Amino acid sequence: MGIASINPATGETIKTFTDLSDAELEAKLERADRAFGQYRHTMMVQRSRWLQNAADILEQKAQAFGEIITLEMGKPIAQAVAEVNKCALVCRYYADNAAEFLADRPVATDASFSYTAYHPLGAILAVMPWNFPFWQVFRFAAPALMAGNVGLLKHASNVPQCALAIESILSEAGFPSGAFQTLLIGADRVAALLADDRIQAATLTGSEGAGMSLAEEAGKNLKKTVLELGGSDPFIVMGSANLEAAVSTAVTARMLNSGQSCIAAKRFIIHDSIADEFEGRFLAKLEALRFGDPLVSENDLGPLATAGIRAELHQQVQTLVKQGAKLRLGGELPEGPGNFYPATLLSDIPSGTIADDQELFGPVALLFRVSTIDEAIALANRVPYGLGASAWTTVEPEQQQFISELEAGAVFLNGMVKSDPRLPFGGIKKSGYGRELALEGIQEFVNIKTVVINQ
Ligand code: NAP
Repeated sequence: MGIASINPATGETIKTFTDLSDAELEAKLERADRAFGQYRHTMMVQRSRWLQNAADILEQKAQAFGEIITLEMGKPIAQAVAEVNKCALVCRYYADNAAEFLADRPVATDASFSYTAYHPLGAILAVMPWNFPFWQVFRFAAPALMAGNVGLLKHASNVPQCALAIESILSEAGFPSGAFQTLLIGADRVAALLADDRIQAATLTGSEGAGMSLAEEAGKNLKKTVLELGGSDPFIVMGSANLEAAVSTAVTARMLNSGQSCIAAKRFIIHDSIADEFEGRFLAKLEALRFGDPLVSENDLGPLATAGIRAELHQQVQTLVKQGAKLRLGGELPEGPGNFYPATLLSDIPSGTIADDQELFGPVALLFRVSTIDEAIALANRVPYGLGASAWTTVEPEQQQFISELEAGAVFLNGMVKSDPRLPFGGIKKSGYGRELALEGIQEFVNIKTVVINQ
């Protein structure tokens, strides 16, 4: 299937789309290039007003946009509406702060006057995933547009209506024609875009394979990239933790978005002293979760976004069981239409399984036991990923050890890993490089120009 909206809860094809022809794609690149020539000179205060308008539109129509998200990728409706509202937040954040982030910074040197200036680069290509189909795009678009760049979006092929809705929100908000365009194209056309001189840089959020492929093409063309890739985040609970809070948060951290989040807690590493208690409570809470129509607000889990994702996840669960893991809950494909998968728990996972090097992208929790903090950290760091990490302890030296030794782009103590416009977001190791959000995010796609004036 090419570019299409298929309802993951029913399997029904809602709408199919024709890929852009070469001539249509060329016209969009030309429009982006022309738009940049003018857009780069718009005043920051003007861009800020447009971005605030976008935030207003998102908030006013959050329910309608949420329904588009849910129908295309199956996220429970309350989470879809919350995602839209979070997009408004990131728009307001950059509308309010970009001028300060990108203000010239005087630097004392031997010259009469020196400073750094932050100038836009041009058209930036954003290759985006379906799992947070609005949020991933807005967290790129808000800083990119505020910096004076123009955006070209190649969204995942299963969320074309989200992609088109985002383009129209930004257009309705007032951004000039060509400042932000959606390209309905398949992944096979990304390489040619990276070779095009009108595109200056690219960002990709998605799987490791897609990231490597984009980075390779970008490298051939010496284009800057930011990559936000997969993760297999640890969630470590030590003996001193507030157990009830840790267990409740563990459920949310694993099951939000039906488990399809890069920063979902995927491996639960529990200290022996509380492991039985944690396991009993965790299992009970997971058992209580219900999957079903994501438009019905009582359902906790929706379907997985595509049939392929469900098949891959189920295969991984079966492989883990074959490799010696104990299936404690779920793990069976339900009958009936849609890509539903039950909340699943695996424990007693030996080392050397696929849990050591693969991401499980769905509602499957992996439980490990450890007897020391060193063992917990070694297990946490064993995977090739390094996106986020959550650790639960009230013992200060343990907190410091987690902060310094966990290999991750973010460490959250006594809380779940989440993105926030005010905090930089990104990974290390095979989770990618570069940062989004906060000051660091807006500085990824700018020319940091050194200016030295001798009078
Ligand atoms: P995906 O298959 O990698 O797709 C992501 C995007 O990349 C889509 O637009 C896809 O287009 C495109 N793409 C795929 N192969 C490509 C290639 N060879 N060259 C250029 N573009 C290519 O990932 P997904 O299954 O949609 O998303 C799930 C993954 O994203 C998970 O690994 C998750 O952890 C990761 N993720 C990471 C973050 C983060 O911030 N670190 C956030 C969210 C998700 P098509 O749809 O047309 O194939």
